[in-house]
Amino acid sequence: MAKHVLIVGGGIAGLASAWELARNGLRVSLLERQQSGQESSWAGAGILSALLPWDYGRPVNRLIQTSLAQFPMWIAALRQVARTDPEYRPTGMLVLPPFDAQAADRWLNDRALGLDSLPAAVAARVPAAATGLWLSHVAQVRNPRILRALREACESAGVVIHEMSQVTGLKTAGERVSGVMTDERLWQADDYLLTAGAWSAQLLGSLSPNLPVRPVRGQMLLYQTAPGTLPCIVYRDGGYLVPRADGLILAGSTIEDVGFDKAITDVAEQEIRQFTTDILPVLAGLEPVRHWSGLRPGTPENIPIIARHPGLTNLYLNTGHFRYGVTMAPASATLIADLILARSPSIDPSPYSWPD
Ligand SMILES: Cc1cc2nc3c(=O)[nH]c(=O)nc-3n(C[C@H](O)[C@H](O)[C@H](O)COP(=O)(O)OP(=O)(O)OC[C@H]3O[C@@H](n4cnc5c(N)ncnc54)[C@H](O)[C@@H]3O)c2cc1C
Repeated sequence: MAKHVLIVGGGIAGLASAWELARNGLRVSLLERQQSGQESSWAGAGILSALLPWDYGRPVNRLIQTSLAQFPMWIAALRQVARTDPEYRPTGMLVLPPFDAQAADRWLNDRALGLDSLPAAVAARVPAAATGLWLSHVAQVRNPRILRALREACESAGVVIHEMSQVTGLKTAGERVSGVMTDERLWQADDYLLTAGAWSAQLLGSLSPNLPVRPVRGQMLLYQTAPGTLPCIVYRDGGYLVPRADGLILAGSTIEDVGFDKAITDVAEQEIRQFTTDILPVLAGLEPVRHWSGLRPGTPENIPIIARHPGLTNLYLNTGHFRYGVTMAPASATLIADLILARSPSIDPSPYSWPD
């Protein structure tokens, strides 16, 4: 009988891990306290890149580069089994000043990424485009759709998803987890994987008092424009615009240390609106159609924890991806599956190990 893995949390980390484990022959169940894919993974922009990759250290860039190399095949496999199109599109990203041009040059050279010339459509639409750095290789996905596609892929691979099932605690026996509790019952499996995003440390409680995962709020506005109004992602000084194929433009985002408060604020709306019209003056006066927030699973230096618990031999974690959980999803799912399946790891797991 195949090993049974019970996953807690149905965001992109949980769904991607579940699909990977089920595709490799394991029996997988997933518990989600609400509907799957409604938290940080839904709220994000879907940019498949670090915003300024040269600002990050090797652990972040290694995981991201591994993920980006996997993405085309991962999406192709997803498209074979899911009905929903995740809208994976290599739109490119324009980075406007200020940024460290020398560090950017070094980073591009190290990866043999040449500088393509700026497409005419970008130059025509973004007034400041000529001052920027054009990264043609950057792609995006549409968050609600990739989550739906992953859920469909999980179901087609036999993952059993239990929604409206909030885990209230873990039971242990010696050096093992013996079950997880919801209000209704105790759920048991061979191995347990926590992918509860910003809530991971709260859920583990005293089982892992030093887990450095905390909620970091990000607010986003959505505009409806004509398709083609903005042809690419634009980033400037912490803010970005991300165009979807149907003309929707996401504008974000804030970085706020406010605990588990998901409120949206007028101050953030004004800031993001100002940013949007600075970058794309044609949007001046256009009212956003939606304003939301999400809680990122924040970690020091944006380094996730993808590891087995140091004291509980059948407990694993895949969380803390902070600003890049969508970008890092395929490589993180592969790595946690490597550890659970006792395969030789695809990348060095040590930077992502569980803190003592
Ligand atoms: C505004 C914003 C913009 C972003 N932009 C990008 C971007 O452009 N590119 C990128 O790569 N990343 C981006 N991110 C970051 C990315 O979205 C996150 O890193 C990623 O979604 C984290 O995924 P997750 O599955 O760990 O967490 P989540 O999506 O939050 O999923 C955790 C799940 O666990 C469930 N859960 C929690 N507690 C329990 C419990 N006790 N029992 C059962 N279930 C539980 C929750 O309900 C939730 O569904 C952005 C995030 C935000 C907020």
